[in-house]
Amino acid sequence: MSEQDWRAIRAEAIESLLVERGLLDPADVDRVIETYNDRVGPMNGARMVARAWCDPDFKARLLADGTAAMAEFDFGGAQTEKLVVVENTPDTHNVVVCTLCSCYPWAVLGLPPRWYKDPAYRSRIVREPRRVLAEFGLVLDDDVRVRVWDSSAEVRYLVLPRRPADADGLDEAALAQRVTRDAMIGVAQP
Ligand code: FE
Repeated sequence: MSEQDWRAIRAEAIESLLVERGLLDPADVDRVIETYNDRVGPMNGARMVARAWCDPDFKARLLADGTAAMAEFDFGGAQTEKLVVVENTPDTHNVVVCTLCSCYPWAVLGLPPRWYKDPAYRSRIVREPRRVLAEFGLVLDDDVRVRVWDSSAEVRYLVLPRRPADADGLDEAALAQRVTRDAMIGVAQP
């Protein structure tokens, strides 16, 4: 049995116990899962990125104070954490990790991918970021500086990717479709 299966069984056992003792309403659990599956996800971050690409004033606000800029949208989910947005430029590429555990900006990216929580990613992206990025299929030129941002319970990071060169003429909604979760973590380019 895989570790994931064990975790699922353990979570179910804990849930049953809590329900049995009247401490938890199963409907609450369903509501949380539904929220993060359907209403909170990378599409939220993608909307912010697309707006930043289209609206220089919004971009300035986003980079100055990500938490405040996020509040301009009607995103659901946990938003109490501080969000810092870091911009990719022709000479700097940003990538996000949580070396300690798996801190992640849920409100704008939804649930973290499995590899983000993997100890190998968490340690290697700091020691050999170019190599790890290449394994994701992102090969950077030698003159591009890589900055690795370590998330914590207090500060969560989001990468503002570079606008794709072939995206001229696309409106904000169409641009948002081009922005992927991985691009906002910094392991891909849109
Ligand atoms: Fe963490």
